[in-house]
Amino acid sequence: MPIKLPSFRSRRESYPPDLWTKCPSCDEMLFNKQLDKVMRVCPSCGHHFRLSAAMRLGQLLDPGTFGERDAGLQSVDPLGFVDQKPYPDRLAAAQVATGMRDAAVWGTGAIEGRAVAICVMDFGFMGGSMGSVVGEKVTRAAEAALAERLPLVVVSASGGARMQEGTLALMQLAKTVAALERLKAGRVPYLSVMTDPTTGGVFASYAVLGDVNLAEPNAMIGFAGARVAAGTIAQELPPGFQRSEFLFRHGFVDRVVTRAELRGELSALLAYLTPASLAVPGEAMDALMLPAFRPLSFLSALADRVIPDPEPEASADGRSGPDGSPRPATARASAASPPATSAATGRRHPGEVERG
Ligand SMILES: [Zn+2]
Repeated sequence: MPIKLPSFRSRRESYPPDLWTKCPSCDEMLFNKQLDKVMRVCPSCGHHFRLSAAMRLGQLLDPGTFGERDAGLQSVDPLGFVDQKPYPDRLAAAQVATGMRDAAVWGTGAIEGRAVAICVMDFGFMGGSMGSVVGEKVTRAAEAALAERLPLVVVSASGGARMQEGTLALMQLAKTVAALERLKAGRVPYLSVMTDPTTGGVFASYAVLGDVNLAEPNAMIGFAGARVAAGTIAQELPPGFQRSEFLFRHGFVDRVVTRAELRGELSALLAYLTPASLAVPGEAMDALMLPAFRPLSFLSALADRVIPDPEPEASADGRSGPDGSPRPATARASAASPPATSAATGRRHPGEVERG
């Protein structure tokens, strides 16, 4: 009588699903560890896979330079929103899956030795949707960039506003744009990087407002989906519509940059857009105050002293921060108490005088 041995084979043959990835554009099976080594770009066809926020920061910043800020910001459920499941459950599931609190991370770091404020989005967290936390992080990044005179880099990856937060999500469009406008008025450079996908409210607000707008190859970039757009204008859409290269040809994107070149590209742009001595943190503020560099900075320095701080007015509409505390206070606290990454230590600059 034959003895039936337990079979081990079937188990070995069923690979864990996270071991291999199939390239959607050339159907090649790619070993995940290998893919991670090449920054998740398909070695055979160049398809750019989506990156997590952590990998993106690792790719762009000098090792060990990233200091996260406002890590504790977390969404509340202001509307008591329930679709197939309650919003808090969705948030919790996304937090477990990604290890992030929300779809964006911001902090300071350096790109080839140049200090930057950087905010990175993660599509893996609820489709990178922009709720009050994402909007707040982008805003705080812009405010800190202005206060500390650091160039701002935002890497977008988003399906749009987070419907579970309704109007509060839509408000983030105005809030982020207002902060970027102040940054622009302060003559601090802002570089926007659009990755696959950058759509909806993020496309309609901060993602396309960079002094230079970069995009990764073949990234889906647009406001509404192609079908909706075609229906609205009742016309056939051209091939490649809403892809980086199409937008580049039509002037909406300034450069299409492969992932391998992105860090170098950002570094070069930072070199063009900032005075040479900005490369050395600590020298930055003095450099920007020199009339030879920025004739207007002397005037804005003067205005900062004479005109009372405009910020309370900008955020005094009774809005609460996502953590439930009044925004002006938290924003002020976070701006005033960075763990002294930079340059702020021991030196003063126009924006900081009245902050004490
Ligand atoms: Zn491929």
